[in-house]
Amino acid sequence: MTAPLPPGSTIGIIGGGQLGRMLAMAAARLGYRTVILEPQPECPAAQLANRQLAAAYDDPAALDELAAVCDVVTYEFENVPVEAAVRLVSRVPVFPPPPALDVAQDRVTEKRFLNASGISTARFRAVDSDADLAAALAVFGGDGVLKTRRMGYDGKGQRLFRGAGPGDASGAFAAMGQVPLILEAFVPFEREISIIAARDRTGAIVAYDPTENVHRGGILHSSTVPARLRADTALAARTAAAAILDALDYVGVIGVEFFVLADGALLVNEIAPRVHNSGHWTEAACAISQFEQHIRAICGLPLGDPARHSDCVMENLIGDDVARVAELAGESGVVVHLYGKAEARPGRKMGHITRLKARRET
Ligand code: AMP
Repeated sequence: MTAPLPPGSTIGIIGGGQLGRMLAMAAARLGYRTVILEPQPECPAAQLANRQLAAAYDDPAALDELAAVCDVVTYEFENVPVEAAVRLVSRVPVFPPPPALDVAQDRVTEKRFLNASGISTARFRAVDSDADLAAALAVFGGDGVLKTRRMGYDGKGQRLFRGAGPGDASGAFAAMGQVPLILEAFVPFEREISIIAARDRTGAIVAYDPTENVHRGGILHSSTVPARLRADTALAARTAAAAILDALDYVGVIGVEFFVLADGALLVNEIAPRVHNSGHWTEAACAISQFEQHIRAICGLPLGDPARHSDCVMENLIGDDVARVAELAGESGVVVHLYGKAEARPGRKMGHITRLKARRET
């Protein structure tokens, strides 16, 4: 067990988006400096960090410089090249540990890992041709969600099949870009939830209350706390998240997304080895946000209390939604957070709001 990093230490963050920005803000509150590795100039994170290394995520010279100037390195997205993390790890502590990237970057590897850890997922088949797809669709009764194994996010690279017959697979492999695919059985979920949890260097774990998530067009629209959940389902979600953290010997914050079935059973959809959009509400409704929790974990500080002081709903501001900011800011109980992105393109996450509701009595 190493001592906590003293104030003034430097945290490297790979990735310069809004998650990196919010991590840099939390780091600053705890007296740490931040360096962002991100090729795009003027990125959201670098606007608030001490320094940006403007280079590709796998640029060897930039990685060596990051290792030289930082006391610990973390990342804000799961598609960090694993070789980059491995190059760093011989020179500087990297949290979450790089094997978490390996697991999260490939939907088949991820599901195999989860199933081997005793955690249920949708049934699935690896698909590398139209013939594989036809066979898998037949096994799943013609219903399934075809996804790219790697680099998919916010519903991108996905195709839904309902009642598909033998001919429906024809041409699908080419249409998806001739990359490795996965067919997941269609899950008739009642709702979607997530757990944001953290594990520190000593193995201590804390988890925020489960969040109920609504997606629109594959993009998270809102996160509501408390989620409408049976107590035993909520406990099962926490237990699964803790099992995943322990299995990965994880340090930092993780997001675990679940499907809730009508009988209360849970299937894990995916894991995100980083702070997560469905945890943004914690900055407004908890004393210690997911961002501070992550910084505490990777810097060796004690984890904070994840209790929430308010019920709330977080809503993403996507594309032109950002034009409503002045109106939203005038509403009582609304906490606004914008990401400093210049251009409001369709589907682009520009910010979020958290609507704080009744104070909890207990
Ligand atoms: P993902 O990118 O895997 O998180 O998928 C985006 C969204 O698509 C999920 O949040 C679900 O709403 C929906 N979805 C993904 N996989 C499935 C599935 N196997 N069955 C039903 N809906 C799914």
